[in-house]
Order: sequence, then structure tokens, then C-alpha cells
Amino acid sequence: MMTTNSEFKAWRVEEQNGEYVGAEKSLSTADLPDGDVLIRVSHSSLNYKDALSASGNKGVTRSFPHTPGIDAAGEVVDSATGNPSNGSPVIVTGYDLGMNTDGGFGEYIRVPAAWCVPMPEGWNARTAMIYGTAGLTAGLCVQKLLTMGAKPEQGKVAVSGASGAVGTVAVELLAKLGFDVVAISGKADHADDLKALGAKKVVGRETLAEEKKPLVKPAFANAVDTVGGSPLAELLKQIKPGGSVSCCGLVAGPGLQTTVLPFILRGVNLLGVDSVEIPLPEKEAVWKKFAGEWACPKTEASARDIGRSELDGALKAFLKGESAGKIVLDHS
Ligand code: NDP
Repeated sequence: MMTTNSEFKAWRVEEQNGEYVGAEKSLSTADLPDGDVLIRVSHSSLNYKDALSASGNKGVTRSFPHTPGIDAAGEVVDSATGNPSNGSPVIVTGYDLGMNTDGGFGEYIRVPAAWCVPMPEGWNARTAMIYGTAGLTAGLCVQKLLTMGAKPEQGKVAVSGASGAVGTVAVELLAKLGFDVVAISGKADHADDLKALGAKKVVGRETLAEEKKPLVKPAFANAVDTVGGSPLAELLKQIKPGGSVSCCGLVAGPGLQTTVLPFILRGVNLLGVDSVEIPLPEKEAVWKKFAGEWACPKTEASARDIGRSELDGALKAFLKGESAGKIVLDHS
């Protein structure tokens, strides 16, 4: 049981003359919000939502100063509930972490016990944070496709935003499960990396360029869409009868202008994926799979570690659509 307040470092975002500026600050655990469990965070993971929070997006974070970081992994140092117990390794992703609750870009967080997933057997904080919310989301997208009956023999599976944090894990996992993956990516220079992850083919974003027709020749049996907007509308037109699209992102825009034709003429399923507010056991089930039969060794091997001083540049790359692969924040 920790009885005294500890000083710690956090990458804190403040508003300065209408600009949002992130920098390392010293805080005390007394500054953290109330909660059941104080966790010493060793690693966090970078996500698009962190970039939105750090840039002052009020839809993500209402008030500043604020410590972003929607993901955290570390060790419980003070538990009011006993479950999780002191000393146990845990993963916290989603809910309000890093949004309006100080997040994993600080060396400590204090959160409700109900947000804490026990670290799967044989895993450590860094490995968990290689996957992070992005990996969890990719896993949930794939799980939904499988639940809808997706099978490799049905045909190609498209992954849009393929070089991104969600996309790369989706590519490797689907390939590992035997699917013929077509990676849709705007980064021609990442084609070899996507092939190394298991994509059979890499095509440009023009594959989903706006097309007037409400339906086109089906090209994919199923898909994972991480971009939303007009590319998602186009993807729906290209799905084979009975196929499904898991939809989780909005980097190409939150709007979706489509017709009902893919749904009523081809029986296409649009599957919404939320990794944030779903019940803890659903998160835990996906984490356990990634720690076992769903392990993505290539993603794990290619993850990049950064320190707090590199956060600013790395987060800005997300906003420009230039981020690629998995980035882990190492607090040590
Ligand atoms: P990244 O920025 O890492 O990846 C997004 C990728 O989308 C980019 O790398 C790029 O890939 C592509 N892209 C970027 N801008 C555009 C554009 N304007 N039009 C088309 N493609 C574009 O983000 P993440 O992978 O972390 O997240 C992807 C999305 O999923 C985000 O919107 C995020 O908010 C959302 N998300 C949702 C979650 C949920 O619970 N529903 C959880 C986690 C993330 P390329 O160059 O290869 O085309």
C-alpha cells in the first residue's frame, strides 16, 4: 500500500494563446483524479485519438492542462479494492483514459478497478502496448468478421488505412488466419512492409476513389475499414454478396454517404466496432488471443519505441496521415 504521494513525470498538454503545446512536467500522484487503483505506468501506446487530444480537439478532451494517453500498461501500486491486487501487472485501454482522465503519457494513472485487465500470462507491458488500443481494435474488427462467418475460401479481404496502427495488425492477423489480404494504402513506400506482414497485394487509395455508380463489380469478400468517409462508401459497393465490412475509424471523415443498395441487393453487413466502452471481458478475451494463437510476431518485431521527448513529432505525424506501424512510449 502506497501511503505517500509520489512525484512523477508526465507529458502534459496546455493551452497557450489558443495553441496546444505538450511538454514534460513534474506532477504528484495527489494531482491525479480519484479512483480505485493507482498504477505505475511503464509503457503506453500511440493512437490517432492521442494526437487529437494533444491538438486540443474538444470532442476528445474538454479541458486542459491534460495528460493524453488512451493506453497504459504497468503495475498496480495502490489498490483500494484488492482486485486487481497490489503488484499485479495490468492493461488499461479506453473508457475515459487519456480523454478526460489523465492517461498513459504520465508515469502514473489512477483509474476505476473496472477498467483494469489482468496482463495475460507470459506477456509484459511493452508487448501489450505494441498492440495497444489499435491492436485491440484490429482484433475486434477481425473477431466481428469471423462471427459473421468470414472464411478464407470466400475470397479476398481488404484492409483500408493498411499502414496505420490498426491496419497493420489487421493485415498480419488476417494473413495469419489464412485470408488473402489486399492492403489499401496511400503509402507506396510501405508496400514492402505490408507484404512482409502478409498482404498478398498492396493497392493505392485510388482503389476506393469516388465512383458515381451505387454498386460496382465486387472485388472483396470481406473488409476491415479503418478510414470511414467516402472510401468506406466505395468499399461497400465492392463487397461480394453476403460479405461484411468491420468499420472502426474516421480518418477520411465521419460522414458516410451511401445508398441502401449494397445492403438490400447484396446482403452486405456493415459491422460497427468500438474498442473503448465495450465490457471488460470482451477486451480481456481479445488480449488473451493476442497473447496466444493470434500473436502477431512481425508487428511485435517492427514496433518502434520512443521516449516522452519524441511524443510531439510522433503525434503530429498521425494528424498528417504519415504515421506508420506501432509506436510504444517507454517511460524508462
Ligand atoms: P493511423 O493514423 O495510424 O492510421 C490511419 C491510416 O489511414 C493512415 O496510416 C493512412 O494509411 C490512412 N489514412 C490517413 N488519412 C487518410 C485519408 N484522408 N484518407 C484515406 N486514408 C487515410 O490511425 P489508427 O490506425 O490508430 O486509427 C485508425 C482509425 O481508427 C482512426 O480514425 C481512429 O480514431 C480509429 N480508431 C477507432 C477505435 C474504435 O474503438 N472504434 C479504436 C482505435 C482507433 P495509408 O497511408 O496506408 O492509407
